[in-house]
Amino acid sequence: MSNSYLDSLNEAQKRAVLQKDGPMIIIAGAGSGKTRVLTYRIAHLMQQGVDAFNILSLTFTNKAAKEMKERIAKVVGVSEAKNLWMGTFHAVFARILRTEADKLGFPTNFTIYDTQDSVRLLTAIIKEMDLDKEQYKPKQVYSRISSFKNNLITVRAYFNNPELQEADLMASRPKIGEIYREYVNRCFKSGAMDFDDLLLRTNELLARFPDVLAKYQDRFRYIMVDEYQDTNHSQYIIIRALADRFQNICVVGDDSQSIYSFRGANIQNILNFQKDYPEVKTFKLEQNYRSTKNIVNAANSVIAQNKTKLDKDVWTSNDSGESIYVMRSISDGEEGRFVAQSIWENMMNHQLKPDVFCVLYRTNSQSRAIEDALRKKNIDYKIYGGTSFYQRKEIKDVLSYLRLLINPNDEEALVRVINYPIRGIGATTIDKLTIAANLYKKSIFDIILNIHKIDIQLNAPTKNKLQDFSNMIQRFQIEAQSKNAFEVAELVVKQTRLIPELEKEGTPEAVSRVENIQELLNGIKDFITDKIEQGENASLTTFLEDVALATDFDADKENDDPKVALMSIHQSKGLEFEYVYIVGLEENLFPSAMSMNTRIELEEERRLFYVALTRAEKVAYLSYAQTRYRWGKLVDAEPSRFLEEIDEKYLHYMTPKTPEPSTNKFIDANLFDDAPKGIRFQKPLIRKKIERNIVENKEVNFTKNFKKVLENTSNTNLFDTEVIVGNIVEHNRFGKGEVLSLEGNGANKKAEIQFGTVGKKKLLLQFAKLKVI
Ligand code: ATP
Ligand code: MG
Repeated sequence: MSNSYLDSLNEAQKRAVLQKDGPMIIIAGAGSGKTRVLTYRIAHLMQQGVDAFNILSLTFTNKAAKEMKERIAKVVGVSEAKNLWMGTFHAVFARILRTEADKLGFPTNFTIYDTQDSVRLLTAIIKEMDLDKEQYKPKQVYSRISSFKNNLITVRAYFNNPELQEADLMASRPKIGEIYREYVNRCFKSGAMDFDDLLLRTNELLARFPDVLAKYQDRFRYIMVDEYQDTNHSQYIIIRALADRFQNICVVGDDSQSIYSFRGANIQNILNFQKDYPEVKTFKLEQNYRSTKNIVNAANSVIAQNKTKLDKDVWTSNDSGESIYVMRSISDGEEGRFVAQSIWENMMNHQLKPDVFCVLYRTNSQSRAIEDALRKKNIDYKIYGGTSFYQRKEIKDVLSYLRLLINPNDEEALVRVINYPIRGIGATTIDKLTIAANLYKKSIFDIILNIHKIDIQLNAPTKNKLQDFSNMIQRFQIEAQSKNAFEVAELVVKQTRLIPELEKEGTPEAVSRVENIQELLNGIKDFITDKIEQGENASLTTFLEDVALATDFDADKENDDPKVALMSIHQSKGLEFEYVYIVGLEENLFPSAMSMNTRIELEEERRLFYVALTRAEKVAYLSYAQTRYRWGKLVDAEPSRFLEEIDEKYLHYMTPKTPEPSTNKFIDANLFDDAPKGIRFQKPLIRKKIERNIVENKEVNFTKNFKKVLENTSNTNLFDTEVIVGNIVEHNRFGKGEVLSLEGNGANKKAEIQFGTVGKKKLLLQFAKLKVI
């Protein structure tokens, strides 16, 4: 094996890679190769004879872990790279807990509650405790509890800490402690851990069982942590404990990219590293390899406004590149269309695939306008994080059945599906079961198993229905002993009759839900194949664990075609794209209205903007709208201060900086139900006409009034959807194909088409712009 990978590093990077033992920290700006150094450092350790089993590498996303592993495999070979312990904190420690959970009184097949499950459980507890839902907003209670856990404050510690109790009292939430206690008990009884438990319980494990600690200290002789600036206290303590014996710990980070303090990340961890390890060797990397000069300099000029930061020089020898484009639009709807249009033009003009583009936003709800516009232009996109595939209702329903058969004590899963599809088990019955479960200190499922024996106010038919339900789950459990994950899932879908239930609805949403369930089954099949190929465990339990931890979208198995990436800025850390669009650059949105009250908060927003801008390799677009629908109301918006903070010489305004006085902010295709999709109201004539109609309060009939004008301004006939089965059609991206079948009506009319290039596709005619040949 050769060491040629060392040649692809600069001197500073090489020094960091060659530093083998002892504590070290790499502090460096965005795009300077921190992650690259970590990757090659691991490969190099292995080249030096360190066993892969002795290396632990913690990354920020699963995607990052996967990419790292692939690169390392290129140096050391696939089979060696497989043995590395690599993943997010949550994934790695979930894996350790699987082996050790019984020591903490949890079953090894414990369920992982995602945020939704946790919030749902808290909602139930708040209701049972007869507390006011407004005073105790479940989401807020959840984040309070989460912050306790991330600071290792257990229930007992809470009740021993008068200051914390005082703080909750002052916030008019005196019962937080009791809710916390009940929540922890219920999770325990359900055999479930939430995300924060994966860290908290790991800490508990390492603190209470010195032999377990010793075992993992001995295993992880070299520890690497990427994005160290965003570790929280709980993570910090785990790392410190594990690294304590060998002290071969290498952390990399950038204080200017610390953006998770709202989730308990503690920037002090990076600042204090030197104190914790007096022997530490510090490395600095200053050359940025990712972005153009314009982007690097613009990002520097913004972050320079922050007072709290470590001094860093970031420079690049890359070309100056294009200016950073600034786009102004009238509304969020128009912003979406601008972005989609711009992506489209770039794709066409430079022959680019969609996956070189990324759209970044401050809040997840902003994705909707962008998604609509991309769909209308027929540009494939994918959302990272946020509501991923696995958060969709029908998917969660199926997963709940699967979770239940693995762990019937899983209360959230049980409550979710006990009456779905409807089997006559109403809310009152569930309440009674919950009360009985609390009374007997048993799980709801245990109560149901004994429903005919215990004293409970339910009539015989209800009891029978409950018994039928538990029989069904037990049948699944038996089948699961002899079937693989896919076969079990298929059986569950069939026997629960979820699909006929959806088909009864007959709506386009229901159709897509059925498709999603089918897609889930495909996903499980792929999962099994992948795992078997990699020689890993392909059980249903591992599948469910992967799903629970899939915070980013590599686990989303929909299809692998290149797609535009849409994500919140928080999700984008560590990633890079040739073209980056940052949307919604408006005061109160970005910076967020909730984070403008103190300098500390505002500086975190600015770091967030720094992270966003430094994702771009070649071209960056900054976009803002003059009006935006927020909380159901149209509000005026003002450009973000961050735009002002960038030195003008790096910017190019695509639209005049100050809006034309005559602009009518109400112009938005949303107003016209019959407006063809993807239209930009660029032509003054159209604008004028619409404006006049609105001012005169006339009904605006888009099709009638503007069809002609539009047809003249556009090459494609937007209204031509007269397609019949057997037609040979041409699609502007997929080329020629034959129409196999048609379904739906009007806006929902879809055609299934066999394309020569991409195979079978189902397309909505409204958007597909097919030409009949
Ligand atoms: P971030 O702070 O955003 O996480 P980073 O410091 O981790 O960034 P990397 O992602 O490791 O930076 O590197 C940024 C880009 O520069 C990557 O595409 C990487 O392959 C490339 N790169 C890093 N170092 C070099 C080098 N010495 N020569 C060529 N390309 C490099
Ligand atoms: Mg990185």
